[in-house]
Amino acid sequence: MSKVHVFNAGPCVLPQVAIDNAVSALKDFNGTGVSVLSISHRTKEWEAVMDECRSLWKELLNIPDDYEVVFLGGGASLQFLYVAMNFLEKKAGYLDTGVWAHKALKEAQGLGNAEAVACSADKNYSYIPKGYVIPSDLDYFHITTNNTIYGTEIKEDIDCPVPLIADMSSDILSRPVDVSKYAMIYGGAQKNAGCAGVAFAIIRKSALGKVSRYIPTMLDYRIHIDKESMFNTPPVFSIYVMNETLKWLKSIGGVKKMHELDVKKAGTLYAEIDRNALFTGTAAKEDRSIMNVPFVMAQGYENLQDEFLSFSKERGMVGIKGHRSVGGFRASLYNACSQEDVDALVVCMQEFEKIHK
Ligand SMILES: *Cc1c(COP(=O)(O)O)cnc(C)c1O
Repeated sequence: MSKVHVFNAGPCVLPQVAIDNAVSALKDFNGTGVSVLSISHRTKEWEAVMDECRSLWKELLNIPDDYEVVFLGGGASLQFLYVAMNFLEKKAGYLDTGVWAHKALKEAQGLGNAEAVACSADKNYSYIPKGYVIPSDLDYFHITTNNTIYGTEIKEDIDCPVPLIADMSSDILSRPVDVSKYAMIYGGAQKNAGCAGVAFAIIRKSALGKVSRYIPTMLDYRIHIDKESMFNTPPVFSIYVMNETLKWLKSIGGVKKMHELDVKKAGTLYAEIDRNALFTGTAAKEDRSIMNVPFVMAQGYENLQDEFLSFSKERGMVGIKGHRSVGGFRASLYNACSQEDVDALVVCMQEFEKIHK
């Protein structure tokens, strides 16, 4: 097969070394002679992977002592419910910046009193609301730091008068984060942290235990912290891949180095979108995500959309069809996407412009 460049939004490109090691572990897990698919999760060999994975998270994000990291099934979407179950007592506030943020809010509303503090739906979520005031009587304030579908991103750790909870599914590990500013950070692994099948949650332990409702056992973070994510059978293979992905991230220099590479990749593509007469970006410039880059055909060139899709496909570009709610194109430039991949996409856009302009 000829070279492809994977820009899928999730599941997405993974580091080649993580894939290679997963392939070999499928046959023989760490020299045990047993496939990683058959290994008992109650062995010391497996527990070593869990321990390594937890400590890599702590090291890469510089997570303070009062926090624990847990690995859970159900994706980020089940975390929407977990958050409300474990933190919502009287009232919660959400920043409604996209479909995922909205789904998180909906889930909380099913359990109690939750409201949007600010919302950018008026312009199809193409920007991050500013100047809103976070009420000081909230149990927590929930944000979605990167809006995967719309390509907007909250690039700084905001100051928040109440416990701050963040869905970082699609920008975790792409920049250093001051974890101490959050009561909790969570996400699905299948963007920057591994393959599908596992979610991560980084939780300040002292923020738990403040609600009066009955919390079903499997939805109680305290149980999973206490049992070190092995209350029941964990998603073994997905955690294996996550661990390999984190090892790779550490080997290339960690999150700070990654951020430099990610900023450069995104800068390359945005510069081309802004320069190329055929294309235009859809997100507000100051809120542009370094992970997901949506763009559409510029005015007058709308009829070329399908042609560019097939043109780019012939040149090895995979996954750049835009999400149905924005249209056009979206290139996801997650950590494992290389500068070379982005350069190839830019060349493709330039060749297309030469034919049509
Ligand atoms: C992908 C994504 C989700 C959904 O993740 P699942 O693991 O599929 O439930 C939630 N939030 C954000 C920001 C996402 O990018």
